[in-house]
Amino acid sequence: MQVDKVPPKNSVYFAWLNSYAGVQLRTPSKNLLIDPVDVKVKSFPQLDAILITHEHYDHLDQQLIVDIQKATDCLIIADTTSAQKLKMHIPTGKLLTAHVGDEAFVGEVKIKAQKCRHPAVSPLTYIITSEDGLKIFHTADSLPYPDMAMMAQKEQIDLVFCTVGIAPGTSPETGSEIAWLIKPKIAVPYHTNTVQSQKKFVEIIRKELPKTTCLIPEVNKIYQIFKGEKKRE
Ligand SMILES: [Zn+2]
Repeated sequence: MQVDKVPPKNSVYFAWLNSYAGVQLRTPSKNLLIDPVDVKVKSFPQLDAILITHEHYDHLDQQLIVDIQKATDCLIIADTTSAQKLKMHIPTGKLLTAHVGDEAFVGEVKIKAQKCRHPAVSPLTYIITSEDGLKIFHTADSLPYPDMAMMAQKEQIDLVFCTVGIAPGTSPETGSEIAWLIKPKIAVPYHTNTVQSQKKFVEIIRKELPKTTCLIPEVNKIYQIFKGEKKRE
């Protein structure tokens, strides 16, 4: 397992798992995986839920999801298209189809599906609220869209993942625009295979959003986020 320990109260651990939107999130009570591809089943011996944002190959590896689900008996929460592809292979009651605006609970951790501006069939983003009220916005491959600002005002996001490359139309500029709309405490540039694009993102944020802390993640490293500040493990 990448994140193999439990965080103390009022914090979460996260690890970025690939060049895309693969993220492991560990709250004090739950262990979540988002869009896992290019990972090994045996890295995750225990899991509570997997969230899938859309059906593209860099977000949904059907066989991998089936194998991890079998090994851990975790819940799968997926957009309509991904759920459709998975439903023959996941036990009844273990697959939840999510639509924009839906809320689901994994224990006391709340998952809210939101809009995603990306050319997939039924893409989603997810706002994950830990049992301590720490809020993480996983924006999948989304481009910025105006509702993000209203959403953020309501939700007060602690940590946002922003796509800065690979996906159509995305760049450090579109990623930083997401951060600008959300105004999180911490902004993480991801979905890229160049550190330059992450550095460019940081450069823009420093200028335009000086109160936001940027964190350039290294793949498979564990980061700890507290309510209000960040600390590297
Ligand atoms: Zn992608």
